[in-house]
Amino acid sequence: MPVKWFICPPDKETIEVDKCLSQRGCRLGERCSTIPYLRKAAQERPWKRVTPSQAGTGPRITYLKQVCDYAINPYDQAFAVIGQGSHGKLSTWYLTKGFISEEGFSDDLIKGIPDLLEPDEEEIGFHILYDYKTSGSYKVRLALGLTEDTDNPKIGKGGQPLKHTSGYKRGKIKYHDKIDREYAKKNILDWSLQLNRYRIVVEHYDFPVSRMICQAIPRDGNTWIATNRGIMECVYLIKIPRLDDKYVLDFYATLQEDHERAFESNVPRICNAWEKWDGRRCKGYCPVSSYCDNMEKDGAIYKPKEITE
Ligand code: SF4
Ligand code: SF4
Repeated sequence: MPVKWFICPPDKETIEVDKCLSQRGCRLGERCSTIPYLRKAAQERPWKRVTPSQAGTGPRITYLKQVCDYAINPYDQAFAVIGQGSHGKLSTWYLTKGFISEEGFSDDLIKGIPDLLEPDEEEIGFHILYDYKTSGSYKVRLALGLTEDTDNPKIGKGGQPLKHTSGYKRGKIKYHDKIDREYAKKNILDWSLQLNRYRIVVEHYDFPVSRMICQAIPRDGNTWIATNRGIMECVYLIKIPRLDDKYVLDFYATLQEDHERAFESNVPRICNAWEKWDGRRCKGYCPVSSYCDNMEKDGAIYKPKEITE
């Protein structure tokens, strides 16, 4: 089902999308954004099968977004809308010799559209597989593997360790950052699975891939919060590890089975700890969390609402 309601950004009250989009339909009398933007924000594609970008999203979210009416704050879609627009602009390189951009590839199991396959200047005959990401500085920090080096406190002029003066770390010691590659690998498993799945399918079409890279733009780059997280640049190239083909293919086959079972039985399994970001996603980042809570009370069975004429 499509997104049925908007949560109005100014006062967090809800309105049906159709009512909002009608002539003079804004309940506040002054629109929060343009009508084309609102239309785009409300768009939800019907689910057909698992795609490479679904790594890290469990079948319950997909299922509930398809069968329930749900509400979104249109402002929460801003970065997705910008991301789609910039992908379109960047794919004008499509016409340049050797670059393949936004071209759909498929094999027996999956369809996917890698953002860019660029000839590798360092390894002739091979390609670099790129994906563009517009992510919050929190995710970029995780992807870079930046973590506090608790053996290396920041020292003030008086020789004493500096302490945080605000936020949830207030009063705690400030540390320099270090890069932990293993931690980074764990944090980018969703990106790694996605790019490796694209790699498998493009290699199937005889485009050998030498390297995989995510070009990440921190969407809050240059803000105090981003620099405080150690994110100083507005563009980062993040290397993606090559994963074992069988591991990647098995992962997506299982995810596909989980989705099929969800739609056949109306009993989608609950997201695992990784898919629900250790619980953070359920608290404010999942638009179908209220339906999910009800399912838990009902033995994970989705009961469609009774429709009365
Ligand atoms: S335009 Fe924005 S503020 Fe007005 S009704 Fe629609 S969502 Fe609400
Ligand atoms: S509330 Fe949490 S467990 Fe439920 S669908 Fe959303 S992310 Fe998954």
